[in-house]
Amino acid sequence: MSADAVVVGSGPNGLVAAVLLARAGRKVLLLEAAERFGGGLRSGELTLPGRVHDLGATVMAMALASPAFRELREQGLKGVEFAHPPVAAAHPLDDRPAVLVHRDARRTAEGLGRDAGAWLATAGATARGGFPLVGLLLKPLGPWDPAPRAFASAARFGLAGVLPATTLARRAFRTVEARAVLAGMAAHSMLDLRAPISGGYGLLLAGLAHLVGWPLVRGGSQELADALVAELRSLGGEAVTGHRVRRLAELDAPTVVLDVTPRQLLAMADLPPGYRRALQRFRYGPGVFKLDWALDGPVPWRDPAVAEAGTVHLGGTLEEIALSEAETAAGRHSPRPYVLLVQPYAADPTRGGHTLWAYCHVPNGSPVDMTDAIETQIERYAPGFRDRVLARHAMGPAELEAANPNLVGGDVGGGMASLTQFLRRPVWSPAPWRTPLPGVFLCSASTPPGAAVHGMGGWQAARLALKDQARSR
Ligand SMILES: Cc1cc2nc3c(=O)[nH]c(=O)nc-3n(C[C@H](O)[C@H](O)[C@H](O)COP(=O)(O)OP(=O)(O)OC[C@H]3O[C@@H](n4cnc5c(N)ncnc54)[C@H](O)[C@@H]3O)c2cc1C
Repeated sequence: MSADAVVVGSGPNGLVAAVLLARAGRKVLLLEAAERFGGGLRSGELTLPGRVHDLGATVMAMALASPAFRELREQGLKGVEFAHPPVAAAHPLDDRPAVLVHRDARRTAEGLGRDAGAWLATAGATARGGFPLVGLLLKPLGPWDPAPRAFASAARFGLAGVLPATTLARRAFRTVEARAVLAGMAAHSMLDLRAPISGGYGLLLAGLAHLVGWPLVRGGSQELADALVAELRSLGGEAVTGHRVRRLAELDAPTVVLDVTPRQLLAMADLPPGYRRALQRFRYGPGVFKLDWALDGPVPWRDPAVAEAGTVHLGGTLEEIALSEAETAAGRHSPRPYVLLVQPYAADPTRGGHTLWAYCHVPNGSPVDMTDAIETQIERYAPGFRDRVLARHAMGPAELEAANPNLVGGDVGGGMASLTQFLRRPVWSPAPWRTPLPGVFLCSASTPPGAAVHGMGGWQAARLALKDQARSR
């Protein structure tokens, strides 16, 4: 097929770019290296026959809140059903009840005792900023809708969010519980929690739990990828798996959108020296070590309320989680790591039984097996967990990168989420999705606004490509 646009890579960003270009009437060819579409949205049978596991993302708060996916759904994306667990997230603690983050901010605050008011003034205020605030945070470089109240709430958010999570937690909260919850949320960023803006990631995720919840896709995240591919095909686009693009010279189209990270782009093309140097400076973050399990029943949490949560943050207090993340940032393996655990069965009974996944952060490219460290952290809050395991599947950084070349050294964020790389992702520019090569755009999580299933990199790259075409006509 001769195409107006080739999209390389079918992660959420590539898929969103492909669908938006096709909706604008362009003939689109989507090329995916793997045998299935979806990138971080892929699902498959990792343990036992009939068990559906998400290889990457499960929790779809960003997809519900992002302007790109809201636009796609409003304009008719079909075949995707979001399922909400009764509790968005839980944070078990030793010798006291777990903290529960509900969709309802007030109910969450009630569980935080002396910090009830502080929770409503921080996470609650973020949720009250609504979609206009989320829109600003996910489109930090515009285009902005004229919504003055959103700028006011963004300014308020910015003052708190620029702080390290450790500082924000200690300033905003007095209780062990509220501080721990913020740490658990902030650690999604994979940053040292003493680093600037790590507090902002925590605040945004907590706010999203109240604004849209932390749902998952019924049947597995693959359903979302497949729905986008179906839409692309219904618009006349072609989508091909098992096709890895090695050099841009292989492609023949006026527009090329790349869902790849800087390291791959460097290998794909001869780039002007300034841009090449900028991409070489791009820093990847820590990797992850991920386990998927098939269980013969639910995790036996000491506090039964944790069973209702889709996501569980393990690792204890603010101090413990901050120590674990500081160890990783320093290139070491924490013996008691922060563990991010997802139990899809809390919301979705269609995945062939009790499947579970969890990961901990490790230094980029680490070959160390963290199975025992992760399972020991689970046993700490769920004694007898190991007896429930029917089968397990482990992926360290090398296996993750082999499955998806964007996960460089096991970095699931597409590059470090530091303040510097918030501003320079991967280059300092009002339109960092545009490369210096005419008609070539970058759209992966290595562009703003970074990691997660929001599709905004693809949305921005498609928008710029269409704008450039309109100008050159
Ligand atoms: C284990 C894990 C858990 C996660 N959990 C969550 C979560 O719960 N919620 C959330 O919002 N986010 C989560 N994320 C992050 C989220 O999945 C990513 O941020 C998101 O998928 C990035 O999208 P992307 O389109 O930039 O790239 P990706 O989803 O990584 O997709 C890139 C695609 O491009 C393909 N590709 C790369 N190079 C080439 C080439 N040369 N030729 C052809 N194809 C190529 C790859 O095979 C891949 O399919 C998780 C990620 C992982 C790995």
